[in-house]
Amino acid sequence: MEKYGLYINGEWVKSSSGRTFETKNPANGETLASFAEGTREDVFKAAEAAGKAFPNWKQFPAPKRGEILLKAAAIMRARKEELGALVTKEMGKVIAEGKGDVQEAIDFLEYIAGEGRRLLGETTPSELPGKLCLTLKQPIGVVGCITPWNFPMAVPCWKLGAALICGNTIVYKPATLTPLCAAKLIEILEQAGLPAGVLNMVTGPAEVVGEAIVQHPGIRAISFTGSVATGKDIYSKASRMLKRVGLELGGRNPQIVMEDANMDLAIEGVLFGAFGTAGQRCTATSRLIIHEKVYDEVMERLLRRTKALKVGDPLDPKVDVGPVASREQEDKVLKYIQIGMEEGGKILCGGKKLKGNLYEKGFFIEPTIFEAKHGMRITKEEIFGPVLAVIKVREYGEAVKAANDVEYGLSSSIYTGNVNLAFRAIQDLEAGVTYINAPTIGAEVHLPFGGVKNTGNGTREAGTEAIHEFTEIKSVFVDFSGRLQKAQIT
Ligand code: NDP
Repeated sequence: MEKYGLYINGEWVKSSSGRTFETKNPANGETLASFAEGTREDVFKAAEAAGKAFPNWKQFPAPKRGEILLKAAAIMRARKEELGALVTKEMGKVIAEGKGDVQEAIDFLEYIAGEGRRLLGETTPSELPGKLCLTLKQPIGVVGCITPWNFPMAVPCWKLGAALICGNTIVYKPATLTPLCAAKLIEILEQAGLPAGVLNMVTGPAEVVGEAIVQHPGIRAISFTGSVATGKDIYSKASRMLKRVGLELGGRNPQIVMEDANMDLAIEGVLFGAFGTAGQRCTATSRLIIHEKVYDEVMERLLRRTKALKVGDPLDPKVDVGPVASREQEDKVLKYIQIGMEEGGKILCGGKKLKGNLYEKGFFIEPTIFEAKHGMRITKEEIFGPVLAVIKVREYGEAVKAANDVEYGLSSSIYTGNVNLAFRAIQDLEAGVTYINAPTIGAEVHLPFGGVKNTGNGTREAGTEAIHEFTEIKSVFVDFSGRLQKAQIT
C-alpha cells in the first residue's frame, strides 16, 4: 500500500502527531493508500514555507509559471488512463467520468497557462499632461485552497492552477475522502518543475487542518468548494480577518421541459444530468420541471430508461452509475429518500440501497425518481445523490417560479423549440449558468463558473474570472512631465 506524508517545502514529511488515516474504494471497501493526518502545527509549517517561497515565485515570470503548468498538463495527458482509473477507484464515479475529471484538469491547466502571457491590466489617459495611468494584477500572497471529493482532479486544478499562474503560493487541503488524487497531482506538479515551498499540501480533518488554514493570519485568501454550511462557516471566520474568500457552494439545479421540446434530447439530458456521477455534482440535475402537456410522455420514457441504467463496478465501462462516495453520503441520500416519502412524495422508481454480492461492500443506491410537489424538502435541499424530483407545471411562468424558488442558483436548463422562450429563460432563471437544450452539467473551462444566491459570494472560478479571485489590482501613475502636478487641484 502506498504511504504519503504531508507535502511541505518540497518534501514529504510525517505529521507532527504521527497519526495516519487511509482512503478506501467506495465500490468495494478496498484500502487504497495511507496518509499523514496533519495538525494545526503542520498547517503553520506549511504556511511558513509558502510565505518564504512567495517573494521568488512572485518574481518568477508569469509565462514561465505557465510553462510549468503546461508541462504538468502534458504529464497528465500521458497518464490520463491511469489517473482516470484512480479517480474512479477513490471517488466512485464511472470510468468515462473519471477520465473526464482528468481531462477537465488538463483543459484548465492548458487554458490558464496561457494567462501567463496575458494577466491583462488596463491603460487609460490621465487628467494631467505628461502622465500615464495603468493597472497591474499582482498576486495576493499565500492563499489557502480547500477542495471537495466529487471532482478530485478537476476542482483542485481549477484552484491551484489559477492561484499559481497569478504568482501566489499555496497551502492546500484536499477532501479527506480523496487525498490520493491530490497526492498524485502534487507529484505531477513537482515533476513539472514547481519550486519547493510554492505548493504545500496538508491532509487531515476539516476541524483541524481546514480550520487552521482559515484562521491562519498569514494566509490572505481562501478558495473553497463544498457545502453551503461549510461555506458560511468559512466565510464568517475568514471575513472577520478581512481575507479574500471565494466560495463555490451547492446547487439544486432544475431542468425545464416545455411542451415543444425535442423529447429525445430532453430525456438524454436529464438521464445524464441527474444520474451522472451518481448525482454528486454541484451542477447535477436534481429537479425536472415538466409541462403538463408532455408530462405523461416524458415520464413514461424517462422511467423506462432509468430502470434500464446499469448500477455497479464503476471501472466496468458498461456500467452507467457507480456508488456514492462514502457511507456518510449513502446515509444522507437514504435519509432524504425517507424524508421524501414522509412528506408525501411518490417514488416512481428506485428508492433503495442495493444489496447482494456485487453491492455488498460498497455504497450503491438505486437511481431514484420522486413525483414531488414544489415546496417539499426533496425539491429544495441539496441531496447530492442519484435522486431526481419531478414537478408538473401548467405553463412557463409556473416553471420558472418553481425553478427559482430555492436558496441555490448554480446551474439551470430549459428544453424548448421556441427561440423566444429560450431567450426569456436566459433572463429569468436565477442561476450563474443556464443551458438551452442541454443538461445542467458540462461546464467548459474557459467560461466563468459559479452561482448566485446561496451558491456563493459572487466570485467565479474558471475563465478569466479565475484571475480576479487570485489577484490584487494595483493602480500605477507614471508622471514624466518633470514637474509636480496635482490632480484635482488647480
Ligand atoms: P464539506 O463542505 O463539509 O467539505 C468540503 C471540503 O471542506 C473538504 O475538504 C472538507 O474537509 C473541508 N471542510 C469541511 N468543514 C470545514 C471547515 N469548517 N473549515 C474548513 N474546511 C472544512 O462537504 P462534505 O464533503 O462533507 O459533503 C457534504 C455535502 O456538501 C454533500 O452532501 C453536498 O451536499 C455538499 N457538497 C457540495 C459540493 C459542491 O461541489 N458544491 C462538493 C462536495 C460536497 P474534510 O474532507 O476533511 O471533511
